Amino acid sequence: MLERGEVANSWRRERWDSLRLLTPNWQSRLPGYEYQGSDPDGYMSLTDVTEFIDGFAAASGAPVRTGANVTSLRRAGDAYRVTTSLGEIRSRAVVIATGACNQPAVPRFAAEVPASVDQVTAWDYRDPGKLPDGGVLVVGASASGVQLAAELAKSGRPVTLAVGEHVRMPRTYRGRDILWWMDFSGVWDQRHDEIDDLDRARRLPSPQLVGTPERATLDLNALTAMGVELVGRWAAVRDGRALFSGGLRNVFALADLKLERLLDGFDEWHQTSGCDLEVGPPERFAPTRVPQAARLQLDLRGGEIRSVVWATGYRPDHQWLDVPVVDAKGQLQHEGGVVASPGLYALGLPVLRRRKSTFIYGIEDDARAVTDHLAGYLTADR
Ligand SMILES: Cc1cc2nc3c(=O)[nH]c(=O)nc-3n(C[C@H](O)[C@H](O)[C@H](O)COP(=O)(O)OP(=O)(O)OC[C@H]3O[C@@H](n4cnc5c(N)ncnc54)[C@H](O)[C@@H]3O)c2cc1C
Repeated sequence: MLERGEVANSWRRERWDSLRLLTPNWQSRLPGYEYQGSDPDGYMSLTDVTEFIDGFAAASGAPVRTGANVTSLRRAGDAYRVTTSLGEIRSRAVVIATGACNQPAVPRFAAEVPASVDQVTAWDYRDPGKLPDGGVLVVGASASGVQLAAELAKSGRPVTLAVGEHVRMPRTYRGRDILWWMDFSGVWDQRHDEIDDLDRARRLPSPQLVGTPERATLDLNALTAMGVELVGRWAAVRDGRALFSGGLRNVFALADLKLERLLDGFDEWHQTSGCDLEVGPPERFAPTRVPQAARLQLDLRGGEIRSVVWATGYRPDHQWLDVPVVDAKGQLQHEGGVVASPGLYALGLPVLRRRKSTFIYGIEDDARAVTDHLAGYLTADR
């Protein structure tokens, strides 16, 4: 196992300080290793999750070579030549497990933001104190964006949040964590070959969730109550002005509708599945409140906004792959983790084999299927 940094590198280097997992502790589970603490419904801090992964590495005796940056992978006869910062390795099979979130995805027009406005991405943001005093424009209302907007608003800064398509979720439903429902109802286990629009499922934004001791819901209504101003999707910069899409009402209505459908599905599953675990009565949530008159533009030269936080998603980095298996958009081409080059595999990408594939909780089932295939390949190839 080659790791360019340390074990749990992404959690040590690529997350903000206050981050807690949005998955409950009982879902922090890796093969043969699970959360053993006294708070299964709580959410791990960065220190907790780093210790958890360190613990797994030690318990599993994983042969990790740290400080080994892979700079190139190329086909060499019936094997691969792997070039690393510690030298070259020849291997008949390779699993690409370099993560789905290696770099921030930022729109091109970021380059047109006036130089007087600081810019930071969710990838390199650490805490509110590192931003200049004054207004912040947070871009993107998925898990990272809503969490950073809330943290910045609590730090006393005026926060504007640019909202595009998003996935609304309450933290708990009928007394249970929403991710309990996702898991027990089978939604998270939906397989890649059962999903109608797999491309879309793979591009779906992360849900608006946060892990706090109070198990609070962090949706747009909660942010509005904290004083966060909502504007539409940031579409362009013109003459130093940020231009936002209109139609927030439709964007909110769509997210509310999808939430209703998800909850309807959970209710139906609970009624018909014979699940005898106790849950509360069905609930429905207030529609997302539409601002009276959402601003359509904002002058970035006027001093109102001192910094922009891009929470517009992440992308994998496959530039080190010298095998023709990456499409024009930089996405690795694979079928359930089996890459179209003999002996090459992938893990940890969105909906790789199931909806839960990119979560810690999701890796076990995927890893089993992928390593089964890999073992078959090595045996057949002998
Ligand atoms: C902000 C954020 C919050 C998240 N919250 C949760 C959550 O609450 N619960 C949850 O289950 N999941 C969460 N996730 C998803 C989380 O990233 C995954 O669950 C988990 O980290 C995936 O593990 P991985 O090993 O596939 O990828 P990563 O953790 O990204 O690990 C990939 C490793 O590969 C190394 N690497 C990359 N390129 C190279 C190279 N060329 N050579 C050598 N090494 C390399 C990296 O240093 C890194 O250590 C979150 C993700 C983000 C971005």
